[in-house]
Amino acid sequence: MASPTFRAGGALGTVLPPRTTLTDLRSRPVGELPGVGPRIEAALADLGIASLADMVSHYPSRHEDLSNVKRISELRVGERATIFGTVVSTRPVGKPVRGRAPGFTAQLYDGTGYIPVTVWGRSWLLNQLLPEVRVVASGEVQSRYGIQIVAKSIEVVDDPAGDEGPHAGRFVPVYPVNKGIQARRMRTLIHRALEAAGRILDPLPADVLVRHGLSNLHDAIHEVHFPTQRARLRAAMRRLIFHELFLIQAGLAARKARLEKTEVGGRHRGDGSLLNPFLNGLPFGLTRAQERVIEEVLDDMRLEKPMRRLLQGDVGSGKTVVAIAALLTAVEAGGQGAIMAPTEVLAEQHYLSISAALSDLPVNVVILTGSQGAAERRTALGQIASGGANVVVGTHALIQKGVDFDDLSLVVVDEQHRFGVGQRTVFREKGTTPDTLVMTATPIPRTLSLTLYGDLEVSLIDELPPGRKPVETKTVDPAERLGAYEEVRKEIEEGRQAYVICPLVEESEALEDVRAAEELREELANEIFPELRVGLLHGRMKARDKRGVMAQFRAGEIEVLVATVVVEVGVDVPNASAIVIEGAERFGLSQLHQLRGRVCRGLHPPKCFLVGAPKTDDSERRLQALEDYQDGFKLSEVDLVIRGEGTLFGSRQSGMPDLKVAKLLRDVDVLVEARREAFALVAGDPTLKRPDHRPLRREIRELLGADVEWLFRE
Ligand code: ADP
Ligand code: MG
Repeated sequence: MASPTFRAGGALGTVLPPRTTLTDLRSRPVGELPGVGPRIEAALADLGIASLADMVSHYPSRHEDLSNVKRISELRVGERATIFGTVVSTRPVGKPVRGRAPGFTAQLYDGTGYIPVTVWGRSWLLNQLLPEVRVVASGEVQSRYGIQIVAKSIEVVDDPAGDEGPHAGRFVPVYPVNKGIQARRMRTLIHRALEAAGRILDPLPADVLVRHGLSNLHDAIHEVHFPTQRARLRAAMRRLIFHELFLIQAGLAARKARLEKTEVGGRHRGDGSLLNPFLNGLPFGLTRAQERVIEEVLDDMRLEKPMRRLLQGDVGSGKTVVAIAALLTAVEAGGQGAIMAPTEVLAEQHYLSISAALSDLPVNVVILTGSQGAAERRTALGQIASGGANVVVGTHALIQKGVDFDDLSLVVVDEQHRFGVGQRTVFREKGTTPDTLVMTATPIPRTLSLTLYGDLEVSLIDELPPGRKPVETKTVDPAERLGAYEEVRKEIEEGRQAYVICPLVEESEALEDVRAAEELREELANEIFPELRVGLLHGRMKARDKRGVMAQFRAGEIEVLVATVVVEVGVDVPNASAIVIEGAERFGLSQLHQLRGRVCRGLHPPKCFLVGAPKTDDSERRLQALEDYQDGFKLSEVDLVIRGEGTLFGSRQSGMPDLKVAKLLRDVDVLVEARREAFALVAGDPTLKRPDHRPLRREIRELLGADVEWLFRE
C-alpha cells in the first residue's frame, strides 16, 4: 500500500519535514535520487527531466484504476479490467512493417485460467516478457477469435513478494515514458522524488486559495501523482491549472505595472492637420470597426503613459489605415513614427501605399531594408537620424545597430506574430518610451491573447469592409490540378489576375526552393498558360527585382504571379481574384488562411484552389477547415485543437513558457479567475517585495526568465 506520505494533507501531529519550494528543487539534480545512474539520467533528460522539480511536475498522462483487479476466470467481455499473471509465451502479431511486427500477444496464466493479452507497439517490452515473469496488465476484454485483452498497459512486477508501494493502491499513475525508462521505474522514481522533496511550500497566498476553494500545492502535487479519490484528483488538477495560469498572469501584471510606473511617454496631441486630409482623401469610407479602433488608438496616444496596444483584425480587415492614422498623429505631434514589417515585399508595399496616400501632405516617408544599396541606405539613415524622415517603413533592418532616430515616438509592428518578443523590445528601445502598436492578422482566440499578451490592451477590428465575398475554396487532387488552372484561366480572361504559390520546402527559402519555384514558373509559362504573362517572386531575389515584379503585377502587366511564401503576409493587389496553392498539405492552417487572404480584397467572387493530397488526418482536417470556414478566429480555434496548444507557447514568438497542465480553450474560466486574482495581488504589491510574496516572485522568475529580469534589479 502507498506509504502515508502519499496521502493528501500530511497527517496532523506528524513532524513536518523542512519546507522547500519548487524553485529550490530546480537546483537539485535527479542524480541525487537512489537508483539514478548515468543511463537513467540520460533517459530522463530525453523526457526533459533534469531536476527534482522536473520530476515532481512530470504529471501522469492518466491513472490506472486498479479497483477492478480480476481473476482470469472472472473476466467478462466488454469490461475494462486489470489482471496479475505470469507469462507463458509471446508471439508477434499484425503485418510486419520493415521486418518489425506492429504488436505482440503475451499468453498469461494466473492459476484460474489462460488469456492472450495483445499489445500494440512497445515491442521493446518483449525482451522482458520472458516465460515465468510476473506481470500486471490492464485493458479491455474483447471477444475476437476467443476472449482476449487488448492491453493499454502491461508491466513486469519486479518484486512480487515485496511491498508494491507506489504501484499498488486504487489509482496507479501512468507516466509518459520512453524506451530508456519504463513505467514502473518512472513511478518508483517519482515516488522517491516526492519523498526527497519533502514539504513543498506554496507560493500562492492563502487567501486566494481559500477564495477559490483550492488545496495547497504540496497536497495537489501528491494527489495528482497518487490520487486517493477521483474527486480529489479532479480538484488537484484544477489547483495545478490555476497555479500555472496564476504565475503567468502575475508576471504579466507585474511587468505591466512597472512599465506604467516608470515610463512616461510623449503625449501625442495631434491637431488633425495631417490626419484629417488623409482620412478625407481615402477612396472608401471607414468601417465602424476601423473608426472605433482609430479612436481607441488616438485616445491612448494622447495619454502620458506609453501606449501598448495590440490590434487584431482578420486578414483584409484594413489594419493598415489604422497604422497610418497613428503614424500621422505621431508626426503631427512633432515626433517620428516607424512601422516594421516581417518581409521586404511587405515593407516595400507599405512604403508604396503609404507614400501614395500621403503624397499631397508634407510628410517625408523613408524606407529602410536590408538589401538596399550603400548609397541609398546612407541617405535613409541620415534622414532618420536628423528627423528629416517623418515616417520610416522597414524590415527588421530598422532594429539593427547603427540605425538612430532623432525622436522616435511611435513604433508599429505589422504582422507581429512573425517577430520575437525580443525584437519588439529592441524596436521600442530605438525611441524613448515610444507608443507601441502591434498588429496581427493571425487571429488569436481571446483567451489566448489574454495569456500571450496579457500586458497589452487589445483592439479588435471585427468587421470586414463591405462587399467582401467569401473565398470559394476547393481542395484539388494533384492529378486534377490542370482543371484548377482552367478555372484560373477563366478568371484571367475576365481581366483578373492570379497567384500560384509554390510548395513549401523550408521557411528559409533554400536554393532547392528557388529551383522548384523556377521550374513551376517554366511549366506555367510554357505549358499551361503559354498565352499569358507569368512572373516569379521568391525570397532570394534582389530587392530591386522583387520591387520590379511586384510593380508589374500591381500594374496588371503580369497576369499570373508564381511566388513562394514571400507573399504570405499582407500583400495587397485587389485585382487578384484566384490563388492556387501547390503542395497545400504542407502549409500550416494560419499560413493557408493568410495566403487565401491575398484574394479576398477585390470586388469579384474569389477562388482558392488547395492542390494537395493530405497524407495525415491533421492535414486533411486543415484543408477541410479551410473549405468550411472563412473566419480567421474560427480557423485559429480549429488550429489550436489540431496542433495542440503547447506549440503556441513553445514558439519563440510568444516568449511564454510552455503550459504543462492548463488548456486554454478548456480552462477559460480558471484563466479569468487566476487573472483577476493575479492583477489584484500585483496592484497591492507591484514589485512583489512583501516577504510573503517572495516565493511567488522567485517562481515567476523561473517561469518567465529574462522577460521579467527587471523584477530582480534594484
Ligand atoms: P490587413 O488588415 O490585412 O492589413 P489592409 O490594411 O491591407 O488589410 O487592407 C486590405 C484592403 O482593404 C486594402 O486594399 C485596403 O485599401 C482596403 N480597405 C481598407 N479599409 C477599407 C474600407 N473601410 N473599405 C473598403 N476597402 C478598405
Ligand atoms: Mg496588413
